Amino acid sequence: MQFRNFKMVSYVVYGRGSFNQLDSILEPQRKGEAPMIFLVDYFFEGKALPNRVPLRGKDKIIYVDVTHEPKTKQVDALAAGLKAEFGTVSGIIGIGGGSTMDLAKAVSLMMTNPGSSADYQGWDLVKVAGVYKAGIPTLSGTGAEVSRTTVLTGPERKLGMNSDFTPFDQIVLDPELTKDAPVNQRFYTGMDCYIHCIESLEGTYLNEFSKSYGDKALQLCREIFLGQKEWTDSNDDKLMMASYAGGMSIAYSQVGVAHAVSYGLSYLLGTKHGIGNCIVMNHIEEYYPAGVAEFKKMVADNNIYIPEGICSGLTDAQFETMINVSMGMKPLWENALGKNWQEIMTREKLRALYEKL
Ligand code: NAD
Ligand code: ZN
Repeated sequence: MQFRNFKMVSYVVYGRGSFNQLDSILEPQRKGEAPMIFLVDYFFEGKALPNRVPLRGKDKIIYVDVTHEPKTKQVDALAAGLKAEFGTVSGIIGIGGGSTMDLAKAVSLMMTNPGSSADYQGWDLVKVAGVYKAGIPTLSGTGAEVSRTTVLTGPERKLGMNSDFTPFDQIVLDPELTKDAPVNQRFYTGMDCYIHCIESLEGTYLNEFSKSYGDKALQLCREIFLGQKEWTDSNDDKLMMASYAGGMSIAYSQVGVAHAVSYGLSYLLGTKHGIGNCIVMNHIEEYYPAGVAEFKKMVADNNIYIPEGICSGLTDAQFETMINVSMGMKPLWENALGKNWQEIMTREKLRALYEKL
């Protein structure tokens, strides 16, 4: 048995207002004149947050459009633009949701690794450390702040650059930054965390390491999302830690059915990660009976709409594409259903599930 020896984020600061420490955190990471580049979620353009970014010298803010989830083309263009403008940079700081954080990780790696980011979609293909990188979440739930991957859609596949060089050098967990997140978006991304917990805790890869983080994250999700309550600052505080703990849980286990099926939706239809997982979770009581029942209660308590019928009218060829993408996520299925997963989740069964969504 080979145990996973995984690389973690090097530095973590947590607390309301911890964003104000960014200048002093970055100071020792500056290399001469080489600028710090801040990739900021385009939602914040024209808002107050960019005024608090500690710009020095040739530092630059680049607003990133995250209407669609990150693409290898987008990463390559950002890295090429920075190389052309500055030669080298001191670091890449991602400020935003999972999409912006993933862009920051990938651009950091592509500042030093040759070729296209598409060449590195897979496991342990990155061989050279990127430039210094920091992640600052403004939405909580994906766990992208702690993970060793950056999920990218490339010309041939949707797959992460999974490597020991991918985790951030620093994360700044300041729950104040999430306070303006729209109710629906906050719920979808929060449910990503809830679903990570269910898939990890109900999976065959579970061990005490994953369980201890998963149990904690699940408890926090229940405190936040069960019952009809006003949203409070304390919920933002808790959800940020739930995201972190949920990410740590899957780091040592794996996700499961909702993610495996949702990857097919996102590849074919561009359905975003959080909402896609919710659409699938709504229909998989066969695999996670208690988790799905509780999820539906959370949806009702928070008065959230989960889209239905998104696969109606698709062609056979389109269903085949989704099935191929989903079936390719072998570790997810194995975690969910065990070594003989292919006997349980047949192509016919998966097609019937997609037809329900
Ligand atoms: P997101 O980053 O895609 O952002 C969703 C929307 O929320 C965007 O319109 C954005 O502009 C807006 N937004 C962000 N912060 C806001 C705020 N504070 N106030 C108002 N609006 C705000 O959403 P997400 O769910 O955080 O991330 C999903 C992405 O994360 C996907 O691309 C997915 O592939 C990736 N992901 C990565 C990992 C990983 O381990 N690397 C894990 C899970 C998901
Ligand atoms: Zn997820």
